[in-house]
Amino acid sequence: MKFRVLGCYGGNIPGHGMTAFLVNDRLAMDAGWVSGALSLQEQVKVKDILISHSHLDHTCTLPFLIDNNFSTPGFSLRIYAIPEVIASMKNHLFNNHTWPDFTCLPNDLTPVLKLVEVTPEQPFEINGLTIRAVHVSHIVPTTGFIVEDRKGAVAFSSDTGPTRRFWELTNTIKRLKVVITETSFPNELQNLANISGHLTPQTLEQELKKLERDVPIYLYGGKPRHLEKIKRQVKALKDSRIRLLVQGKTYDF
Ligand SMILES: [Zn+2]
Repeated sequence: MKFRVLGCYGGNIPGHGMTAFLVNDRLAMDAGWVSGALSLQEQVKVKDILISHSHLDHTCTLPFLIDNNFSTPGFSLRIYAIPEVIASMKNHLFNNHTWPDFTCLPNDLTPVLKLVEVTPEQPFEINGLTIRAVHVSHIVPTTGFIVEDRKGAVAFSSDTGPTRRFWELTNTIKRLKVVITETSFPNELQNLANISGHLTPQTLEQELKKLERDVPIYLYGGKPRHLEKIKRQVKALKDSRIRLLVQGKTYDF
């Protein structure tokens, strides 16, 4: 599958967008940097978005993606997430205070936005892709996603501290091509990582012992202030499977 990195950082400074990936030009995985990375012509092609959790660095461009394209004929968007995440978006984002409730605009019958609840580990199909959400261990309800086509599968953990089920399920994927997981903080900020449900290079190393497959492991989510330190500490792990995702790059997974 064609996998384009729109943003891959845990915060925003110039040149560093927050988490968002584009699969086969029309499915987005998280929306921390969709409108920040895509032209208007490219934005209209995005029809479906998987949202892992409610945090702004994974959702903050949703309002502008919809607003930018609201009046474009045929534009509509479906957002897929577990019920807790859908509820959070209804209550705190599309609530007619933070932003208009686009689930009833321009009218109730043909709204431009549909919020679709998914059940963890129950496969659903979008445009030839089979997708499963799987619970991970973050500070708010969060799932990673396993996205498969006929040739291969990508396992994306989203934001997580040490977790279990994601690795169990990932180990069973036949055509697993790549794992994408996070490393948000350097080892010096282990306490902060623990209380906020994130990984550091040293807890990443422990997590990867749960992975029984020999596939590339791509990292995202570094906080911009700590990127150089995170890179040095990840390199010191001397694990040849580990790479850092590159913003703007398109991978063939
Ligand atoms: Zn988060």
